[in-house]
Amino acid sequence: MRDDGAFTYNGGKVAPGETQNIRYGISETYLGDPVRIPVTIINGERDGPTAFLSAAAHGDELNGIEVVREVAHEWDLSDLAGTLVCMPVLNVPGFLAQQRYLPIYDRDLNRSFPGREDSTSAKRMAARIFDNFIAPCDFGIDFHTSTRGRTNMIHVRANMEHKGTARLAQAFGSNVIIAGKGSDGMLRTEATAVGVPTITVEMGEAHRFQRELIDEALAGVESVFAEYGLHDTSAVRWPGWRTIINDENEKTWIRADAGGIVDMHHERGSLVHEGDRICTITNPFKDDNVTVEAPFTGLMVGVLENPVVYPGNPLCHLVELEERVRRVVELEQSPDGDVVRA
Ligand SMILES: [Zn+2]
Repeated sequence: MRDDGAFTYNGGKVAPGETQNIRYGISETYLGDPVRIPVTIINGERDGPTAFLSAAAHGDELNGIEVVREVAHEWDLSDLAGTLVCMPVLNVPGFLAQQRYLPIYDRDLNRSFPGREDSTSAKRMAARIFDNFIAPCDFGIDFHTSTRGRTNMIHVRANMEHKGTARLAQAFGSNVIIAGKGSDGMLRTEATAVGVPTITVEMGEAHRFQRELIDEALAGVESVFAEYGLHDTSAVRWPGWRTIINDENEKTWIRADAGGIVDMHHERGSLVHEGDRICTITNPFKDDNVTVEAPFTGLMVGVLENPVVYPGNPLCHLVELEERVRRVVELEQSPDGDVVRA
């Protein structure tokens, strides 16, 4: 909460012009030691909005950690107008175990917000994070990656019916925005519900630092800062083309109907046409191949990385593009398309 320009949380206060690196206790281990999340609070000398950046609510989703750390510790923020609350690792127990869920009963921290002090271990942790560092903000960005074994092209997930969230989503400047309210208990859903417009950024795969995606996300953060006047950066960026995927767009996770080893013929972000071969599922002898074709023309937003499947496992997240956008992407992805980027 801002009070005389200071950012206050339970047990502390960060005055204008001050930066604090803190380790904030959100739980206790079996040995009675504190479980503490790293938080960097940068309060600019100039007045402005308060924004949070968070990552690793799923403990093995690492790309966002580097995004948040670079903003907090490598950017020159001496001209910051407002306050930044940077939380590179929300799910500390999951991060230590390098797994998605909290190791305690495999709870999903990102379904436990806004949390409750007298409830489960996950909800108590969520409440400490939410009450102290999320609720006092004006908006926020929560970074995720695809689930282990799959990869995502960088995209934003946001409630586009909410004005504040839609503004934030557009400002990030990604090609793809997937519109939706999000599930109950998700950080972005619950923060938005209490008046802190929040988007999720999905980028790449778990267990990796993917430099090109990290750089793109940093450009997105810079663009958001420009939109809200937090930082004297260049203008809000326009990504060349943009599609907002909503209920009118066809979209599906294409699933394997056969178990086997997958030869994927396209990459994340590829445009495939109806009937194109997306992948081939083979047996150990390579003599009984199953070809999986695109059921409609669309963009491969998510793709399998670990090339083994049981029947029913997801192969690719395919989303339909509106005609105008599809043409632009087609030109961009054609061999001589680099000269026609809109
Ligand atoms: Zn996640």
